[in-house]
Amino acid sequence: MADLFTRAQAVIPGGVDSPVRAFGSVGGAPVFVERASGPHIYSADREYIDLVGSWGPALLGHAHPTVVEAVQKAASKGLSFGAPTEAEVELAELVIDRVEPVEKIRFVSTGTEATMTAIRLARGFTGRDLVVKFAGCYHGHEDNMLVAAGSGVATFGMSSSAGVPKGTVEDTVVLPYNNREAVETLFATHGEKIAAIITEGAPANMGVVPPTPGFNAFLKEQCEKAGALLILDEVLTGFRLSKAGMWGIDQDVPYTPDLLTFGKVIGGGMPIAALGGRADVMDWLAPLGPVYQAGTLSGNPLATAAGITTLALADDAVYEQVNRSSQALSDGFSQALSAEGVDHTIQRVGSLFSILFSDTPATNYDEVAAQDQFRYAPFFHSLLEDGIHLPPSVFEAYFVSATHTDEVIDKILAAAPKAARAAAQA
Ligand code: PMP
Repeated sequence: MADLFTRAQAVIPGGVDSPVRAFGSVGGAPVFVERASGPHIYSADREYIDLVGSWGPALLGHAHPTVVEAVQKAASKGLSFGAPTEAEVELAELVIDRVEPVEKIRFVSTGTEATMTAIRLARGFTGRDLVVKFAGCYHGHEDNMLVAAGSGVATFGMSSSAGVPKGTVEDTVVLPYNNREAVETLFATHGEKIAAIITEGAPANMGVVPPTPGFNAFLKEQCEKAGALLILDEVLTGFRLSKAGMWGIDQDVPYTPDLLTFGKVIGGGMPIAALGGRADVMDWLAPLGPVYQAGTLSGNPLATAAGITTLALADDAVYEQVNRSSQALSDGFSQALSAEGVDHTIQRVGSLFSILFSDTPATNYDEVAAQDQFRYAPFFHSLLEDGIHLPPSVFEAYFVSATHTDEVIDKILAAAPKAARAAAQA
């Protein structure tokens, strides 16, 4: 693996096509994957139980046979047409059926494209420029979202990115997450200039940070009063936390986002993402409206086949299994860490969780950053040594799939005491 990493670094910057994969914050050489199946990934010489799940898409487990078959069947009919297909319509209908606030939807190829387009659409529709985001939330790598972003940007301690013109981020206002007062103050002074708030359904790119009860509904209320739009970014949480994503389990105080973005599970591992929401807003997109967006591979037939099949298979039993497994896993990790006297908190939203190395729960990025970050690398490497593949950064969530059965969870937890000891000794 180290040889392959050296070879990769000679020809690909950092040896990877997406920064967090490089193991930068935990050290060592990444696992080069040859194939994957169910809860497992395989390098050339080893099997690992995978808790990365391609960073979210693998809700049904890797290479689900029915999904693979659907993609193979679609491939035999043509790889890309650049023309409309019945499958796109079917996938659109499936999403609209599951997620009530989605009246119309457009498919793109990545989560970044989805949020970028949603923001452009919100600006076009409102005729305003300012967009509000929260520190530690990650919405993709479009220029105007690369301020105080989570995920790889947080992992590498970057507050922003080189190559982003100052003028571009001047229209992005960053606020601390879960801080209602900060939102109210901004809207009181600049409300009439704000096009949208964009927020993760539940933040999971600074580790998991649950919204305080009613926070998303509060954001919608603020937007509505000011004539701004609420964009709920469900790229990571969509179709993972429930059939209707985070929105579906976040209705204690009911609210309706104006726009939502999807990615990951919607394509079950194929490159497809989407934005959807209010029909009157969505109709501002070209060719009906003046907001331009396009894509050579948008609505790709292999990706739509994978999406339709994945959503059709993601029934109540899948969500029950994933919830149960992640509960058992987080309980087990927590017990092992407690036994070694390691301060920690399980940060959880539904089936998504991460371990925070602090005994005080974190409600925003600054609190997440203040944890004992140094404990993660030894914890991670102990598990990797024992064949468990965790996200290589303390700022990421752990992803279980419907194939992470009790037996698989038991195998992971058998390795937990040693990992907890390594964390304790850090
Ligand atoms: N939004 C959220 C909430 C995400 O988690 C991600 C990716 N991790 C994105 C947007 C960007 O998606 P992509 O990597 O497909 O561009």
